Amino acid sequence: MAYIKIERQNFFHNLSQFLSKTGSKESIGIVLKDNAYGHGLELMAKLSSEFGLTQAVVRTYDEAKEIKKYFEQILVLGDKAIIDDKCSFTLNSLDDIKIAQKGSTVELKVDTGMHRNGISMSQLEEALTLIRDRDLNLKGIMTHNRSADELSSELFWQQKSFEDVRDRVGEFGFKDIRFHSYNSATSLRLGCSDEDMIRLGIGAYGYSELPKIYDSLNLKPVLSLWARKISTRVLKKGERVGYGGTFIAPREMIVSTYDLGYGDGWMRSSTMKPFVTAEGLSILGRVSMDYISLESSKDEVCIVGNALFAGRQIGTISYEIMTQLSEGMDREVV
Ligand SMILES: *Cc1c(COP(=O)(O)O)cnc(C)c1O
Repeated sequence: MAYIKIERQNFFHNLSQFLSKTGSKESIGIVLKDNAYGHGLELMAKLSSEFGLTQAVVRTYDEAKEIKKYFEQILVLGDKAIIDDKCSFTLNSLDDIKIAQKGSTVELKVDTGMHRNGISMSQLEEALTLIRDRDLNLKGIMTHNRSADELSSELFWQQKSFEDVRDRVGEFGFKDIRFHSYNSATSLRLGCSDEDMIRLGIGAYGYSELPKIYDSLNLKPVLSLWARKISTRVLKKGERVGYGGTFIAPREMIVSTYDLGYGDGWMRSSTMKPFVTAEGLSILGRVSMDYISLESSKDEVCIVGNALFAGRQIGTISYEIMTQLSEGMDREVV
């Protein structure tokens, strides 16, 4: 099977870079949703805790339960709120407030312009009243920026709206509420030392999708994808490789089959145009189910060393390359 290498040093390096902006480990919430962006949920939880992080962010309560022992606080983005000593649950709508278990710890998401999740600005007072009436323990108020990674001023009007939310919540009399709105891109663009918590995802794994002029931190990819050799053969000029025989050897070549394919999360689309591996080898022809062919006889080859560059080759972003890597693949910390 193909496998994944996780560079502990690079992960710690990236976390240190953000730590230099927040000033405290406690204010970094490591986002571990989608199998920790393909890196492995439990593995990355463990490494985060070794580094000294105390907070995590996940999508489901099941994910939270799997990593509970590594953290003091876990924010769940997308499940019904129930009572749990470590977890707080995101309220995305008035309905979420109505179905939340009495006494559960919750964080209210306010829609400041992204229009994906969260209550609208005009529902704020109604939501706060409901939260109080239903005896929920309000821990935080949050929002999400829709274009922190684009060259525009939108981030600033969203931040301004969030300031307005902060004032209105203050008038309501809730005490000790935390406010958070920063993802990786926002954390790269703005100062973070006043933030109660940043929700750090992609940046921790080594990527910034920001236009170059914003790139202030030096981040390093944590994950690389490797495949092992199954067999080697010599192709004569004119012989074809793989399903559909779309690759025709232009000359005699030494070609090997490697164990990477759909089952590992490698897409067919990634070979519509010959995909070039981290070592500069073009994948020959189509992915043949669980195998690819390369002009190489090496025992192991690195397919992806940088998910941003790999993504650009096939018209996608680093997130997608990484999150679709199969959960069943071995992940080895180096
Ligand atoms: C995924 C997610 C994040 C992390 O975003 P990155 O761009 O990966 O840093 C932060 N907040 C919320 C609500 C998210 O869903």
